[in-house]
Amino acid sequence: MNDVTNRRVILAAHPVGFPQNTDFELIESSVPEPSDGEVLLKTLYLSLDPYMRGRISQARSYAAGVEVGQTMVGGTVSRVTASQHPKYQAGDIVLSYSGWQEYEVTNGQGLHKLDPDHGPNPISTALGVMGMPGMTAYVGLLDIGRPQTGETVVVSSAAGAVGSVVGQIAKLHDCQTVGIAGTTEKCQYTIDEFGFDACINYKDDDFSEQLSRACPNGIDIYFENVGGKVFDTAYNLMNDSGRIPVCGMISRYNDTSLPEAPDTLPRLMRAILTRRLLVQGFIVTDHGTRLSTFSSDMSDWLKSGKIRYREDITEGLENAVATFQGLLRGENTGKSVIKVSQEP
Ligand code: NDP
Repeated sequence: MNDVTNRRVILAAHPVGFPQNTDFELIESSVPEPSDGEVLLKTLYLSLDPYMRGRISQARSYAAGVEVGQTMVGGTVSRVTASQHPKYQAGDIVLSYSGWQEYEVTNGQGLHKLDPDHGPNPISTALGVMGMPGMTAYVGLLDIGRPQTGETVVVSSAAGAVGSVVGQIAKLHDCQTVGIAGTTEKCQYTIDEFGFDACINYKDDDFSEQLSRACPNGIDIYFENVGGKVFDTAYNLMNDSGRIPVCGMISRYNDTSLPEAPDTLPRLMRAILTRRLLVQGFIVTDHGTRLSTFSSDMSDWLKSGKIRYREDITEGLENAVATFQGLLRGENTGKSVIKVSQEP
């Protein structure tokens, strides 16, 4: 037995509605030594993502949920601190799925070694612009949205990890980009830092008029991250043959039930039919074949300054629950990450 103590956050109860502090528990246990074929990982950075709300729900979804008593799941950048595994040695930095904890002993399945010289820099971006959210933006926009020069691309949650990258890739394809975000400050940031042509605060009373004014030629691609009233407003402005990559619907993640037949459904179906809209849901993990092209393109764009990113880093695993709650309330700008260890 090791003399190192692991702190981890477990699910204490499946949340009903907005996740409460009592739905989680921070517990301590000792860290076992890795056995033959295993590695001991120390978590450096933990990614916090909206999909985690789905994992702690009991509703059916596309991936298995976290059971009460289990460690919260999540992507991490970790350092190998001891290894009995032929592929890894102490000091290696890996992309892992260790979850909300400071240490993990694993058999190495699912680990990806990060190249210290040519890999993501800083390493935390392996969880953001160079990782899952960046790839989500890439495949959702390019493979489903298929942007063409001069088209209007509207992106919800535009100041966030996925949305900020969608807008910038659309701009690289010479599109007009209109963001939607939840505060004036976020809107200004998306224009100043991420180069959106315009950004509308969906909390403004005249949101729908503002969005309509910002899209005088209608919308060709609406990149859907949030659902709810933002979606209802955006799809009404879609042009013929418009595309809607359905990436997420965070405004509904804390609902305890969804309406059986929303009044707006017949109107939506009519718009899909008469305007020949493509509405396609996607899950980034189904698009693994695009990983190397994405990594190469994104790395080039970052090096040449064509894509910018922002990380919203909070220190300490003990702050993971509050930061996750903040993410669901819109308190983050950019990629939400917990710096779990003082290294590197
Ligand atoms: P973000 O960094 O964008 O953070 C979440 C943001 O959602 C908040 O900052 C907030 O911004 C916004 N938000 C929260 N509540 C609401 C609400 N009620 N109405 C409108 N906006 C709200 O997260 P990500 O970029 O990581 O994820 C964006 C979306 O993409 C999510 O829906 C996520 O589930 C989805 N996703 C899907 C993947 C897939 O494979 N399909 C993979 C990765 C992400 P604001 O202040 O602007 O309201």
